[in-house]
Amino acid sequence: MSGKYCISVDLEGVACVVGAYGQGLAEGTKGYAYAVKQGTREAASAAKALFDSGADEVLIWDCHGSGVNLDYDKFDPRCRFALGAGSRIRFPGVDESFDGVLFIGYHAYDTPKATLAHAYSSSTFVSHKINGKEIGELQLDAAIAGKRGVKTIFVSSDNVCVEQAKETFPWAKTVVTKDCLAWNNCISRHPQTVCDDIYNSVKSAVANINDMKPYVIKTPFELSVTYKRIEYAQGCSLRNPDNTPFETVDAYTRKGILADPEHYFQF
Ligand SMILES: [Zn+2]
Repeated sequence: MSGKYCISVDLEGVACVVGAYGQGLAEGTKGYAYAVKQGTREAASAAKALFDSGADEVLIWDCHGSGVNLDYDKFDPRCRFALGAGSRIRFPGVDESFDGVLFIGYHAYDTPKATLAHAYSSSTFVSHKINGKEIGELQLDAAIAGKRGVKTIFVSSDNVCVEQAKETFPWAKTVVTKDCLAWNNCISRHPQTVCDDIYNSVKSAVANINDMKPYVIKTPFELSVTYKRIEYAQGCSLRNPDNTPFETVDAYTRKGILADPEHYFQF
């Protein structure tokens, strides 16, 4: 078996990580260094499973914060890395020739109890809704890969995020890293046990690749974005396909139509 895969690596959802009160998991906060270490180990376990399953190309996308987090030396030397920020491209380097995307360390969208729950920025957004249904960055990122015809095959994260993932892409293989208690509180599984489970579950995902599907959002779709501050809502630059600005629903919420999930990042 051969294949091309991309592993998208965020950090909030990895084992033994809860962030810091009022600060999330920003660089320099307590817990960030461990999150980098464990995010690297979890993603490296997934990459090893892909190569052991016959993959010939594995791209690691380092997507937390500034996009420069992981310990790249710890990965199989055949890996390549997408890192940094500024291009506004989600899944950089991933095109229709890829067989699957995997999500490591993602987190739930805002919901009671979920550890470090947010979508894209915990200081900027309250919620994102597509056709009235709340979604998170896991779902929107998967839809961007899906628009390019690439299957979502694996998710590892906390129990709440995994539940949300199963609602959206029930075919994907999953591993739970920790059980959420509150935004900065969880009961975690042992970091090595999680890595072992990721290795086995990713191997099973590749073995069952024919049962996997791209996650596709029917386009065009309605997007509603609720911001944490009124001035952020006023500064929203999202536009409808006819180039009119998104409508103002209330002081914090803007709503409109997008023709492509990727357009959310390109205004
Ligand atoms: Zn993150």
